[in-house]
Amino acid sequence: MGRMKKIDRGKAFLVREADRFRCPVCHEGMHFRENGLICTTGHRFDLSKKGTLYFLKRHLESEYTTTMLAHRRRMLQSGLYAPLVEHLAEIIAPEAALLDAGCGEGSFLAALEAAGHSGVKVGFDLSKEGIYLATDLAADAFFCVADMTNLPFQTGSFAAILNILSPSHYQEFKRVLAPDGRLIKVLPGSDYLAELRRGFFQDDRENYSNERVVQKLSAEMKIIEKTHLFYQQQISNELFPDLLAMSPLTWQFSAQEKEQFLKNYSGEITIDLWIYQGVH
Ligand SMILES: [Zn+2]
Repeated sequence: MGRMKKIDRGKAFLVREADRFRCPVCHEGMHFRENGLICTTGHRFDLSKKGTLYFLKRHLESEYTTTMLAHRRRMLQSGLYAPLVEHLAEIIAPEAALLDAGCGEGSFLAALEAAGHSGVKVGFDLSKEGIYLATDLAADAFFCVADMTNLPFQTGSFAAILNILSPSHYQEFKRVLAPDGRLIKVLPGSDYLAELRRGFFQDDRENYSNERVVQKLSAEMKIIEKTHLFYQQQISNELFPDLLAMSPLTWQFSAQEKEQFLKNYSGEITIDLWIYQGVH
């Protein structure tokens, strides 16, 4: 079977899964028509050539450019996050309908599919650039541009929501989760990318703390499990530019400052992550 065109892949998904969506304007149900979705009161959302949908009422600026997202993708695909993917594949049932909230350029959904996830996969992000890049992945997943505070999905339509290093909107997350569904939230620990922190902020700047985020999460959902992933990896010189461009940590620094950093850099990077699982 030849590879389908992106827009035909998008159509095939919507024909099968239209019931999972709801109109972000009037909150009525949607069905497939011609080139996309239409709600019962007539609001239309047509597929882009890349097979994606755009659900925003007005354009919201994302700070992630295509270049930054491309750097990020190379880091994600370098294997730096392989232990995280492995853990996620263990805790997410392979057939679970999965929503990646703040999916960026989509690499995690693709990696989960490669690790055996076979259920419905939908990713959304505010960044149109990220969503377009996501369609280049071979994954059998659907991608759309959507606002986290007004999700274009039906109540109870996903068995799991993945939220990796990305903001949350618990009210909407709880609404679109099935009654026994799970939120899987991945947070940075205090040593996440510590080498960048130390290299660029040598002063006595405080370490990052995820305490407030965890407090908010525990107030909104019942935490049923948390796992700590901590490891260090040596990254190759070719990936240095990708490392420096993937995190907002270093965006404010000049080329000279980055060069200075690289002169003293061992190439080791710390990944310190907490994976929380929450239910309603
Ligand atoms: Zn509508």
